[in-house]
Amino acid sequence: MKIKISTLSEGRHFYNFEIPASEVDLSTEFKENLKVGVQLEKTKNHLVITSNIEIKHNSQCDRCLKNFEQILTTQYNMLYVYDIEHKDEYNEDVVTVIPKEVDIIDITRDVKEYSLLAVPLKNVCRGECEGLCTHCGKDLNIEKCECETNSIDPRWLELKRIIKN
Ligand SMILES: [Zn+2]
Ligand SMILES: [Zn+2]
Repeated sequence: MKIKISTLSEGRHFYNFEIPASEVDLSTEFKENLKVGVQLEKTKNHLVITSNIEIKHNSQCDRCLKNFEQILTTQYNMLYVYDIEHKDEYNEDVVTVIPKEVDIIDITRDVKEYSLLAVPLKNVCRGECEGLCTHCGKDLNIEKCECETNSIDPRWLELKRIIKN
């Protein structure tokens, strides 16, 4: 995902990229095409890039362990400054320092990083997913089981055992 900037006029420019996730070296967790909409604003001294990323993720439900697809969207901003002499003074998470004569900027690495960050820590196939019985392992979306422990908080189970003894 390369943008030629040397010949760009000052002002706003828009780009759309659509490339296979595998080409960005994103693991097989991601499917099909990665879509990136880029807004670039150029002034005399810097460039600001705002990228909107959309990607299909192959997730596994934390409750029922089924695989499902979800579309993840994320956005990031990156400031590019022509100030190579003070390179080390910038926070490289939000600023990329480039030499004045740079011809092309490549946003691939940032897009990849932010795509990975967009993956939620918790994945649930649907809000009302019943999950698996922690006792017998049955998928409670398909059938109910007879386990009495099913709805009991494990801490209460412990208490029950103590009372029984
Ligand atoms: Zn589920
Ligand atoms: Zn059960």
